[in-house]
Amino acid sequence: MDIKTYYASLRAAAQEKAARNTARARENRQFRENDNRLAELERDLAFAELEGDREKEKALEREKTRRREENRTILASMGLTERDLSPVYACEKCNDTGFVGTKLCSCFYTVSQSLNGSVGTDAKTLPLVDEPLAKQLGLFEVHEKLRRYAEKFPSVNKKNIYLCGGTGTGKTLLAGDTAARIARRGYCVVFLTSFEMNNVFLKYHDLFNDARSVSMNALLHADLLVIDDLGAEQNFKNVTTPYLLALLNERNLHALPTFITGNLNPDELLRHYGERVFSRIFDKRLSTAIMLGGNDKRIRL
Ligand SMILES: [Zn+2]
Repeated sequence: MDIKTYYASLRAAAQEKAARNTARARENRQFRENDNRLAELERDLAFAELEGDREKEKALEREKTRRREENRTILASMGLTERDLSPVYACEKCNDTGFVGTKLCSCFYTVSQSLNGSVGTDAKTLPLVDEPLAKQLGLFEVHEKLRRYAEKFPSVNKKNIYLCGGTGTGKTLLAGDTAARIARRGYCVVFLTSFEMNNVFLKYHDLFNDARSVSMNALLHADLLVIDDLGAEQNFKNVTTPYLLALLNERNLHALPTFITGNLNPDELLRHYGERVFSRIFDKRLSTAIMLGGNDKRIRL
């Protein structure tokens, strides 16, 4: 099922249930009379307030309290409460729309996972790197820097990170540690390998796949996106580079941080993906690059 359809059906079910409860309650004559009068009372109260008639206002308030009380008792006799008469949504934060304002609700990731199989790895479960381990791996300085990034997130000067290093330099470990710290603070973090990213692109490219946009949306809207080992994936013509460009563009545009790890140094990255992707990853205003395993541990852009 498409995620939009899923949310729409959740909302419809909640609304239907409320309508059914209301109809049932209104079969009771006394409830119906009170209910109709209560709607009138709201209007009468507004007028009384406008007219400044305090006495009338008080009398109306008393009537309102009495009728509401009476209806609560009637509802209780039916095993209902006032709350059952309006839709009860599964997610109170977004009322089952998936969005809070223009931001993705935290339920979106869970929903998209359950609908679509998971997108990448659950970042909360990634192993943390503690100080002794970081020291042991010779990554103390970089680890400290990333720990501060995770603490300040998303109020960080440089939103994007490119962590460059060969196999066994600990780049995936550090990226996972950062992702886990940020996810544990309640942010929506998508952590996936470049191989998994490619699969999301391929699925999105397939116009006949109903769920095509679900995973792509997760990548586009996650508070933090971590792409592990960029450059290791197969470069599919008309898919990998164009969608990567669109993805990075969109995220930079909305100031959503992206954390990329990779084997490729900046020159190789430029050759591999071209100037446009390169300039999104190494955007001076948004990005910082960290080199692991070389003499020069970091290049500041
Ligand atoms: Zn929600």
